[in-house]
Parts: sequence; structure tokens; C-alpha cells
Amino acid sequence: MVVKVGGSSITKKNEKETLDHEQIQWFADTLASSISHEFKALSTDENQSIDRCQQKNTVFVIIHGAGSFGHHHAREYGLSGQNFPSTNDSEVDSASRKFQMEGLAKTRLSVQNLNRILVEALVKVGINAVGISPCFAAPSLRADGSSEVAARELRSLVESTLAAGIVPVLHGDACLYGRNTAGILSGDTLFQILALGATRGVFLTDVDGVYTADPKITNATFVPAIGVDGKTGDLVFHENDFTITASESLHPQDTTGGFKTKLASALLVARSNINVTIAKCGTNSAVNALRGVADNNHTVIFQNR
Ligand code: ADP
Repeated sequence: MVVKVGGSSITKKNEKETLDHEQIQWFADTLASSISHEFKALSTDENQSIDRCQQKNTVFVIIHGAGSFGHHHAREYGLSGQNFPSTNDSEVDSASRKFQMEGLAKTRLSVQNLNRILVEALVKVGINAVGISPCFAAPSLRADGSSEVAARELRSLVESTLAAGIVPVLHGDACLYGRNTAGILSGDTLFQILALGATRGVFLTDVDGVYTADPKITNATFVPAIGVDGKTGDLVFHENDFTITASESLHPQDTTGGFKTKLASALLVARSNINVTIAKCGTNSAVNALRGVADNNHTVIFQNR
């Protein structure tokens, strides 16, 4: 199962480099009680996790967003989602290149700090987790994050960790594209690449799931299930016909497209007959999402035909 835990859940998104310790601990504990024992340390207290656990055989790939680690620096240095060099990248002047590389270094350092903190929390509860920075670990992501070659390279890297009994923890990353251009690869895009090789996908975020519009700015209706046509990609609703507006993030520092990117990734994955659940981090319905248990309080996106 590929799980993307949002930056808005594990950090306080509007306060630079501020953690949400409670959510991080919740995530670590919930994962520990759901994961296959092959991915746990020998010294783990099995009795404790057996008590809490209903389904103990899941293999997880974790991706996390940057939240207030990364986005602030990315915004300051003008790094945005997939800035692939549009023309001749060698023509970027030296001052502009230096500025971008300073931004890349600071953004990456910040998000790697968050990655280390999350990995530490997972290791402390007995999970053999290892942090992976995707853009420099899978070099073809640098040339074109959207290519099938890059996707294969990343999937093979992740599969090799799983085969060894290690839980890979990847993060939305600051990347070098071409030779002189820096940009951001969002965790929601990584989800799309990795969940296409998985059995199920889960997004943990700061709202219960998908609404007809942003619930923080309007009185929107909750949508517990969304069918997507495997051939056309059209959304299929059985009872009511309505539209869904997915706006960009309300967080002013966000550089990666907000809910729009998340929903687009989820729909693309569901089109390939891989169910995707969107749930609120820290809730019972999120526990159910991670254990594959049906629940009306989160949104399931599935292939309808
Ligand atoms: P994360 O940090 O978890 O990746 P984002 O901040 O990118 O999350 O996106 C979550 C936010 O998207 C929610 O807090 C909500 O305000 C906003 N949003 C916009 N449109 C919608 C929608 N149609 N349904 C639910 N949330 C939405």
C-alpha cells in the first residue's frame, strides 16, 4: 500500500519549520499496528501491537509532503512544481543558476530534516524505515519526472527496499532538472508514480476526504465515493450529478498545486483499477483506510467500469 501523508498533517503549514508532534506519533503508532512483522525490528513488543492490530500483514511505501519544511524556502527562491527546462537550459545565466541552486540546497535541507524526524519516529516504534530523497536517488527523475523511464527507476528502487524488509519513506523533493534548473517534485506526483505499481493507495490529509468544493471556504457536500471510468477517465456518479471543484491550497506558502494535484493523481491511479482512499490524518476513518476497512467518513475513489 502506498500512503502519502500530507505536509498539512505532520507540520503546522503556516508556521515555518514547525512540527505537529501529535500527528507524527499517531501516524507512527497506527503504522506499527498495521504493518507486516517482516518490516519490524526483532526487539519490537509484538504483544502490544497484537492487541491493537486487526490486520497485520500490510506492506507500506510512505511518501510525505514538505508542509512548512520546504515550501517556505521554495517560495522564497521561486522554485515551483516541475520546472523542467523549457528551452536551452545551458543558456541560464550564472546569477540565476546560483540563486536557484541556493534555493534547491535550502529547500532540500529543510525537507530532509522533516524526513529524518518522521523516519526517527517510525524507527522508535520498531519499524525498519529508511528515508529516500527521490530526485537524487533516481537520477532520471532529473531529466523528466513524467517519463516512464523515471517511473520505472523509482519503482525499482522502492521494490529493492521492500524486498529487503525496509519501509521506504520518500518525500516531495527539490530537484535538479537538466543542468542548471531547479524545481519541485510534489509528493502527490510521487504517489501517482508509485501507487500505479501497488494494490491500494491512501492519502492522509487535513480534511475528511473529497468535498464538492473546498470545505474551508464554502459550505460544501462531502463525497464518500467517486467512480472513475477506466477507459475515458470520466467521473461516474450514480445518485446525484454534481461537480467537484478542487482548488489550489489555501496555504500561501504551498508551491505544488494543493488539492487539485492530489485529486488528479488519485483519479489517474483509480483509472487503473487501484482503489485510492482520501482520509483525515489522526482519525478512526484514517485507521480504517490504512487497514482496508470500509468507512463512510472517508472518500474512496475506484474504477467504476
Ligand atoms: P496536504 O498537505 O495534505 O497534501 P493540501 O493542503 O495540499 O494537503 O490540500 C488539502 C486542502 O485542500 C484542504 O485543507 C482543503 O482546504 C483544500 N481543498 C480544496 N478543494 C477541496 C475539495 N474539493 N475537497 C476537499 N478539500 C479541498
